[in-house]
Amino acid sequence: MLKLFIAAFSVVLLYWLWNKKAQIFASRNNKVDPFITTIEAIEMQTFLAWDTPRSCLEGDGIRYGKQFKLKKPPELPHEPGCRCETTKLFYTSDDVFQGTSPISTHKSALGDISAKDALLLKNILLKIINNSTATSFSDFMEQFETNSFSADIRSQAISQAEQAFEAAKNK
Ligand SMILES: [Zn+2]
Repeated sequence: MLKLFIAAFSVVLLYWLWNKKAQIFASRNNKVDPFITTIEAIEMQTFLAWDTPRSCLEGDGIRYGKQFKLKKPPELPHEPGCRCETTKLFYTSDDVFQGTSPISTHKSALGDISAKDALLLKNILLKIINNSTATSFSDFMEQFETNSFSADIRSQAISQAEQAFEAAKNK
C-alpha cells in the first residue's frame, strides 16, 4: 500500500514539475517584447564637405533592405566626387519608427561629427545647391540656427558652407 502511495505521489510530483517547467519557458518567451524586432539594413552615408555633390547629399541617410521601400542601394559612386559609403546595420523596429540611426557619428571634412551637426550641415549644403539666389552669405545663413552647431566645429562648419555658397555663385 505504501509503495502504491509513493508511486502515485511520484507521478503527481513529476506531472507538477513538468507543468511548472512549461510555465517557466512560456513566461521566458513572453518577456521578449513582441514589438521590438531587429531589422537588417544598409544605410547610405555621404562625406559632408563644401563640394559634396547634390545626389550624395540627397542620398545621405537613406536605408535599404528587405523591410524598406528601397531594397537595394544604388551603385556607387553616385557621380564624380562622390565619397559615399554604405554600412550594414541592425536596427530595432523602434529605431525605424523613431527615425533614429545606430550610427552616432558622421564623416565630414571636419572629421567625425555628431549626427545632429551633420544633419544641420547637410541641410545648409542642400539649400545652397537647390537655391543659391541669395545675394550674400550672411543673408542666406539667417534662415539657419547656426548656434545649434557644436561649439568646437561651428566656425569650421560655417566656413564649409561659405565655400559651398561661393562655389555655387561662381558656377
Ligand atoms: Zn555619393
